[in-house]
Amino acid sequence: MTDRLPLVLAIDDTPANLLTLGKALGGEFDLQFATSGAAGVALAIESLPDLILLDVMMPDMDGYETCHRLLADPATRDIPIIFITAQNSPDDETRGLEAGALDFISKPVNPAVLRARVRTHLTMKRMADQLRSMALVDDLTGIANRRCLFETLENEWRVCQRVSAPLALAMIDIDHFKRVNDSYGHQSGDVCLMAVASALKACLGRPHDLIARYGGEEFICLFPGTDLAGAQSKAEELRQSVQVLGIPNEGASAAPVVTVSIGVAVTIPTTEMTPHQLVESADKQLYEAKRAGRNRICCVDFLKGSSGLVTK
Ligand code: GH3
Ligand code: MG
Ligand code: MG
Repeated sequence: MTDRLPLVLAIDDTPANLLTLGKALGGEFDLQFATSGAAGVALAIESLPDLILLDVMMPDMDGYETCHRLLADPATRDIPIIFITAQNSPDDETRGLEAGALDFISKPVNPAVLRARVRTHLTMKRMADQLRSMALVDDLTGIANRRCLFETLENEWRVCQRVSAPLALAMIDIDHFKRVNDSYGHQSGDVCLMAVASALKACLGRPHDLIARYGGEEFICLFPGTDLAGAQSKAEELRQSVQVLGIPNEGASAAPVVTVSIGVAVTIPTTEMTPHQLVESADKQLYEAKRAGRNRICCVDFLKGSSGLVTK
């Protein structure tokens, strides 16, 4: 949470109107002003305001076109837009709503009404932002959830394909986790999942690396731009980071503490294959690592198909 005031961008070609808006909102909100649609769009992309007040009638680029441009850019499309307009016939309002505005305020502007509407829309924006981010986060561990994983995987797949870079995917499964639950209780199991998630997360070094909870006690890490050798050493780091936590698991076969097995698949994405195939391939490697005794990693270059078992 930051203490900064919400930032409101007002776009109007008449400076006197901007002055009126400034007087009505100053103190409660931080304000930025632009006197043309084009300048407003540029400023919005740069400063990402929390809300935009937009005049409809402007020379060159009018409010509808400005609104259209703001909604077309992924950086600004979620910023609520309120039209400030002297045209308040039902036809004008319909056109504005169809253009993507959330609300209308009529000129001449009543300062109290303006403040109240701005407050309401900012509250709704905050709630929408919270929902969006909650929809991508795993409740228990606070790391990315499955949905976030697959969205990110699709994106990174496309990026790596475009620049012919490798993409490594590590599937991580806690060994004999059922016994943690059985021996120490489900709540201890939950605490164990949280600890494992943060240990794995701490191993991630690059801005585009991702750790996600894939299922119950399974995690997936994505390492864009990482080749097989790099992924192998990264996976080894992940494996060790869990073992050194020293969480007791007396019933486990590999060690008396909680450990993980990891399957890694690496490829340079092409149109001939799908991200799902990379996941399946890592899953097969994970199975091999389990079969070979657990607490180890098993890697494959998806295209070459050569599997290298790496023992601890
Ligand atoms: P393996 O080494 O073969 O992976 O054995 P395992 O016991 O880890 O695997 P198995 O699939 O048999 O058991 C996974 C267990 O994970 C069963 C399930 O109850 C538990 N589990 C799944 N999600 C959660 C969770 O959110 N919290 C807790 N405490 N347990 C969970
Ligand atoms: Mg499992
Ligand atoms: Mg398991």
